[in-house]
Amino acid sequence: MPLDLLSLTLVAKPVTLDEGVKVLERDRYCCRYCGLDGKASFENALVMSVDFVVPRARKGKKDPSNLVACCRPCNMIKGRRVYGSLEEAKAYVLGRRDDLRKAWEEKVRVPARSVSAKADSR
Ligand SMILES: [Zn+2]
Repeated sequence: MPLDLLSLTLVAKPVTLDEGVKVLERDRYCCRYCGLDGKASFENALVMSVDFVVPRARKGKKDPSNLVACCRPCNMIKGRRVYGSLEEAKAYVLGRRDDLRKAWEEKVRVPARSVSAKADSR
């Protein structure tokens, strides 16, 4: 399956290809933070990776229980902060995504309801 091959190359280096694919398959290629479906499109597949819930820098284990499928935007937003649990990290990431979305909407003045509509070309 081409997506698997693609994902193979996108797995974070500290995780072996085998380990990364197992995590992605367990999580059905969906980001555990925002739910982005890595199988829905090529663009989505490109941003899927594997995240250490407890960062390695904080002695997070390279163990399936500490690894989750994660899109790169969520990974970036999550950063290197330490969370008590995946749920806590998820709440933070989703909250930050909301803040960023609001800031972006204000900046480009796109009403929330028309975000999914195709923007007119200017
Ligand atoms: Zn995500």
